[in-house]
Amino acid sequence: MARVRTPLSPADPPGSRSGQYAAQYSATRSRARRSLPAADDMDVKPWAVQALLQLTNQASLRRLLGVARTNDIIFDITDRLVVVLPDIVATVVGRWTIEIETCVCDAAELQAFVDTLSVTLVEPFDIDGERHAIDFAIGVAAGPPGSFDDVRLAEEAEDALIESRREHNVVIRDLSKIDPMVDKLALKRELKAAIERGELFLQYQPKVHVRRQEIASAEALVRWRHPTRGLILPNDFIPLAENSRDIDRLTLWTIEQVITDQKKLKADGQDLTIFVNISGQLLSNPAFVKRACEMVSQGGVAMGFEITETSVIRDPVSAIANLNIFADHGIAIAIDDYGAGLSSLAYLKQLPARELKIDKMFVLQLTSSNRDPLIVRSTIDLAHALEMEVTAEGVETPAALALLSVMGCDMIQGYLISRPVEIDAFRQFLREHKDAALVDSARASFRVAAFRRSA
Ligand code: C2E
Ligand code: CA
Ligand code: CA
Repeated sequence: MARVRTPLSPADPPGSRSGQYAAQYSATRSRARRSLPAADDMDVKPWAVQALLQLTNQASLRRLLGVARTNDIIFDITDRLVVVLPDIVATVVGRWTIEIETCVCDAAELQAFVDTLSVTLVEPFDIDGERHAIDFAIGVAAGPPGSFDDVRLAEEAEDALIESRREHNVVIRDLSKIDPMVDKLALKRELKAAIERGELFLQYQPKVHVRRQEIASAEALVRWRHPTRGLILPNDFIPLAENSRDIDRLTLWTIEQVITDQKKLKADGQDLTIFVNISGQLLSNPAFVKRACEMVSQGGVAMGFEITETSVIRDPVSAIANLNIFADHGIAIAIDDYGAGLSSLAYLKQLPARELKIDKMFVLQLTSSNRDPLIVRSTIDLAHALEMEVTAEGVETPAALALLSVMGCDMIQGYLISRPVEIDAFRQFLREHKDAALVDSARASFRVAAFRRSA
């Protein structure tokens, strides 16, 4: 049975579908859960499918139909989809975007599903008595169990959508075609050239200050758009870069890209610190430290480095000395993945860090575990005693936000606020957040209050 999920806000005016949506859209995009199909369905049809449809001719529709009616079209499309494709869950996840989840038996049935989807959307829509053609970009990711996790499926679908917009074609990513064993060796060889070929790109994820309700900073996360393998996430290639000693070039590239993107943000009137992840081995690499400091000083932008405590413990004397050099160059230091690796209070006190990030493994289970809230609470108290601010990463639910807020956590980062997104989408997110703060601050605070009440 097909289902439609649309975002609803108690603060929206009744009867206005687009009103409900417009107010919630950036938050809802990140809030929509990307769960795989239920276990029963997967026994029968084991391939999980995620498709993203995005309207691409909204500008001309607005001229013909007006803004209000055009904003509502997304619901006409969803209505048609669930009639023609009864086995889907359709969720409106962006002002112009619908996410579809379903499952199929195999690659052949996937193709048949995508064909039906495309044909369904080609037929013009009857809008207020007139027929209008609606243009779409369509990105689809799918695969059998074991070839991906749900984050990977969502990331691949998003990347397929981006490619579809660029190529004006439906793009399908079949995750069964990627052989993980062949991957590692081949990838290691290909990584060197990937930087020069411009195959790496960054996504940004905001960190939000809980009390001030404003975006405090952001983290840059690297991705690899491989010409044949599709999107590769950092956990699959950063360890290879560390082994093959390409990590210094990769990280210098990241810093350079962040400086370029920071200039775009500055032009938008945004002055945010952007944090870059720094692998442990770079903390004792003098050539890297020197070059990174030169780049940040010349770039003249607000930059931070996220480092793990484990990397300090490996070679504490040189790591602490180099972290002090970074701090002297105005680079903010955050301790990443706190609690996941080795930690030592003796070193923690000596680091020039102002921010402690609690590892997401404690935050993801926060409201379902007995132990994790205790760990999180004591970490927050410890960090505050050391005059550090605390960031919780992996915040996915309003309930987790509410609990963290009560515990005195300073900043949060996670899918609840936004998934990591490319620079232009991040700029758009910042613009909307700014507008929402000016125009709609009452509603925003209502929303947070509602989170607190519902937890
Ligand atoms: P990290 O530094 O702990 O980054 C946070 C990871 O959590 C990111 O995964 C992010 O996409 C994910 N995440 C964010 N919010 C949520 C959430 O609400 N729920 C869940 N389940 N996950 C969330 P990503 O981008 O795959 O990065 C993985 C790791 O790769 C990073 O972990 C970091 O250690 C490393 N990495 C990423 N970019 C770079 C880089 O430029 N240089 C180096 N050396 N490492 C990098
Ligand atoms: Ca990090
Ligand atoms: Ca982390």
